[in-house]
Amino acid sequence: MNANFAAFLYLVSGVLFIMALRGLSHPATSRKGNTYGMVGMGIAIVTTLLLAKPTFGGFLLIVLGLAIGGGAGAVIARRIAMTSMPQLVAAFHSLVGLAAVMVAAAAMYAPESFGIGTVGDIHAQALVEMSLGVAIGAITFTGSIIAFLKLDGRMSGKPILLTGRHFVNAGLAIALVVLVIMLVFTQSTTVFWLIVLLSLALGVLIIVPIGGADMPVVVSMLNSYSGWAAAGIGFTLGNLALIITGALVGSSGAILSYIMCKGMNRSFISVILGGFGGETATAAVDDGVQRTVKQGAADDAAFLMANASKVIIVPGYGMAVAQAQHALRELGDQLKAAGVDVKYAIHPVAGRMPGHMNVLLAEANVPYDEVFELEDINSEFAQADVAYVIGANDVTNPAARDDPSSPIYGMPILDVDKAKTCLFVKRSLGSGYAGIDNTLFYKDGTMMLLGDAKKVTEDIVKALHA
Ligand code: NDP
Repeated sequence: MNANFAAFLYLVSGVLFIMALRGLSHPATSRKGNTYGMVGMGIAIVTTLLLAKPTFGGFLLIVLGLAIGGGAGAVIARRIAMTSMPQLVAAFHSLVGLAAVMVAAAAMYAPESFGIGTVGDIHAQALVEMSLGVAIGAITFTGSIIAFLKLDGRMSGKPILLTGRHFVNAGLAIALVVLVIMLVFTQSTTVFWLIVLLSLALGVLIIVPIGGADMPVVVSMLNSYSGWAAAGIGFTLGNLALIITGALVGSSGAILSYIMCKGMNRSFISVILGGFGGETATAAVDDGVQRTVKQGAADDAAFLMANASKVIIVPGYGMAVAQAQHALRELGDQLKAAGVDVKYAIHPVAGRMPGHMNVLLAEANVPYDEVFELEDINSEFAQADVAYVIGANDVTNPAARDDPSSPIYGMPILDVDKAKTCLFVKRSLGSGYAGIDNTLFYKDGTMMLLGDAKKVTEDIVKALHA
């Protein structure tokens, strides 16, 4: 295939990826966005194959790789529960990082096949690109594995704070730069593998100190890293599509991390340095004072809601676990039919991945114009008669607003306590993801509806019918 025509096709796939990102920015257009992305990736793969003109054996290997990788991906994606999506994303990022390391290793040992020189005489520019790709790839690989283990509950979500970690990390980062310079001058494979080892260690050390409540930022940060690793390798391979895609993933991941940092009131630098939150971790209500909790039943909730003029629904991770979104939509429909003003309030980190709640509400056909982001609805809680908090916890915790010693202090919260009555649906008085108690359970205006989110919501719908 003509190189200019290939470049044109890569450009087309790049434009399709941009259209995919644009489409994915809203639930109504996300399916179309996904299709653009798939077509773009199809064009990029076919163009690369036509351009590379592999031998028959090589072609078979590529098809085999596609079949194994694509098959495994399809099976995993079909089986995975929506609640486990963040750890799946983290696990997949780790593979992108590993692929970057492997491609760089292949280029190091067989530079001729990549057109970047010969063994011992690799172009300096290619060496810099390769070492950047391999370092970022290895950091992404181990970092994503730690994020996966934490998100999947196989490793404690609590931050592991090693003393002097910032100095150790800074020392390792400096050593990494020195090794990259050495690689350019010596082209030694030993130095190459030292870069890999150091970066693998750095990946673990960067992520281990980060507490569970801050994991969403980490996942999107690793997403960004994996994009930059791919772009670095794109330069080594001279593959335009990989450079475009890597840069798109890298920059969109960085922008998402920035938006999430803003949403949680964290500084981006402290995310990179690791260890934020956690140092002052205390149980907010562990002060030995006996507190009482007002408990209610579905009938009480139905009565309060039917007599309300404005109800704001706040979904959280528990709604996803219980798969209560359809019952919730029914409740919303019922209330609207009775003349109640119903709105949904979504916190930027509600659930376990960005957009988690939006996806579930869209699946249950909740109208988009009833769903609002935190900054657009927070002032309305003061005028609401009922805040129906269904399976959300951390994102409503007033400790984030009022208690400077709390690990989540500074994270914006949905001001559900400003509503006349706050109905809290969860199974127990247990804590949420951040592992801290919620003082809201004990407030006068709060009524706890203890039980499974779907069951409780269905019971309220029945009680409204009665
Ligand atoms: P939380 O994790 O704070 O709380 C969820 C609550 O749901 C739990 O307290 C649990 O209480 C309850 N619950 C669980 N299962 C059920 C069920 N079947 N029925 C009813 N209730 C149930 O969730 P939030 O959405 O409020 O906050 C999200 C948290 O996750 C934040 O700390 C955020 O930082 C973190 N996070 C967010 C990510 C993102 O990108 N959105 C990614 C990773 C982490 P009980 O056991 O008593 O029922």
